[in-house]
Amino acid sequence: MANTRSDWEQRFQSLTLEGRAFIDGQYRSALSGETFECMSPVDGRFLANVASTDEADANATVIVARKAFESGIWARLAPAERKRILIRFSDLILANQEELALLETLDMGKPISDSMTIDIPATANAIRWSAEAIDKIYDEVAPTPHDQLGLITREPAGVVAAIVPWNFPLIMASWKFAPALAAGNSFILKPSEKSPLTAIRIAQLALDAGIPKGVFNVLPGLGHTVGKALALHMDVDVLAFTGSTAIAKQLLIYAGQSNMKRVWLEAGGKSPNVVFADAPDLRAAAQAAASAIAFNQGEVCTAGSRLLVERSIREQFIPLLVQALQAWKPGHALDPATTVGAVVDQRQMESVLRYIQIGKDQGAHLITGGNRTLEDTGGLYVEPAIFDGVTNAMTIAREEIFGSVLSLITFDTEQEALAIANDCIYGLAAGVWTSNLSKAHTFARGLRAGSVWVNQYDGGDMTAPFGGFKQSGNGRDKSLHAFDKYTELKATWIKL
Ligand code: NAD
Repeated sequence: MANTRSDWEQRFQSLTLEGRAFIDGQYRSALSGETFECMSPVDGRFLANVASTDEADANATVIVARKAFESGIWARLAPAERKRILIRFSDLILANQEELALLETLDMGKPISDSMTIDIPATANAIRWSAEAIDKIYDEVAPTPHDQLGLITREPAGVVAAIVPWNFPLIMASWKFAPALAAGNSFILKPSEKSPLTAIRIAQLALDAGIPKGVFNVLPGLGHTVGKALALHMDVDVLAFTGSTAIAKQLLIYAGQSNMKRVWLEAGGKSPNVVFADAPDLRAAAQAAASAIAFNQGEVCTAGSRLLVERSIREQFIPLLVQALQAWKPGHALDPATTVGAVVDQRQMESVLRYIQIGKDQGAHLITGGNRTLEDTGGLYVEPAIFDGVTNAMTIAREEIFGSVLSLITFDTEQEALAIANDCIYGLAAGVWTSNLSKAHTFARGLRAGSVWVNQYDGGDMTAPFGGFKQSGNGRDKSLHAFDKYTELKATWIKL
């Protein structure tokens, strides 16, 4: 087992990096022969030439996926059998945990300990959870008159395409392919061009587990080429997306311009984390607030990027917060002790640094962090930053930075806190800290957000749905609700 940075470096030497698409059970180059270079943000090393698939590959893959679906080889398999195969897939992911963790870290920059303890186990768990559910879900019989039998059944939707981001490459993908495959669909995964390697690798594991060829396909490539082609395709039944709100809106247009495919969107966020003076434990609140912005380099859709603190405790709270953030130090992403890894690419790093400059220019007060660091590694590292004196009108409080930049906003009353929390185009998540039970409930009810955490931040597992209000999207990943996205509801009336 790899325990040190040099163990991981050694492990890297023995890796075979696959960059081709996976279509109909085989690795294939893009039909055009085009590739793009995949470089590591950890230290700038070259990783692989990756197939840059486009419309031609999308068309060919949809035909393959449709054929697999119509054949019934997967869609008509007994749910218990699909369960068995998917559990094997989950086990294979765990059996290859080190290799997948290394790929995830090198590809997108997150700390190796996170990849090992969070990303890969959570992916395996998402698959297992959906697999275990699928042979326990019953259809319905309608309360009909005596001479009728009304069956309400769920059927797999058909060909599902998923377009996913780079911040949790495998987890985001698994939240979609696990329920979609369990429900019997054929699946085409378009990973982010910034982090395609683990998606490509697990396609082989899916086949090894027994998922028939053509049922699980991976098309690496750019958004405006292969992503757009899938979104505009007349024979894709469902498009599941996680990514930015700007692209999510574009996908709704593509669906309208093509076949009205079902479009499920999990988009951006600018989540408020509200600390009242009567929070049960201010130190715990400060630690959670630090983790909410520094974990995964702040590249988290639910990052608690707006920290609302009641005026009467702010002087007490700020030192606790600064101290808590010190536990989050950028370090080489392959070092197992590292808690903050590299920013995904140069463009994203420049964007984060630009927002930090905007914060300063608009009069917010940078109290810690905010500099590029560890340049000698050849990687892209930025210190987590806290701005005090932020108003909710400032750019850094309104726009999703998707980096470790925290805006601290002070409030006086509960009413004011709720107004600020909801004054946002997004509605993905929110936190509230109070020991008053009634206030916790009323405040949580007032928040326009898909997930609310009370006296914690970022809790949850596969059992509850995850998704957003407002411009954070419409779909819900995880839980039994996720199956709704990948199935059609049919009513069959039988005259008795
Ligand atoms: P992005 O929107 O830039 O890209 C997401 C995916 O869309 C990528 O695979 C990209 O190639 C593809 N894409 C880009 N243009 C396209 C087009 N014209 N047609 C089809 N596909 C296209 O987002 P990103 O930078 O990869 O990820 C960060 C965003 O993801 C943030 O806004 C974050 O909040 C969001 N996110 C949301 C959730 C959630 O569950 N709500 C989870 C993780 C990330």
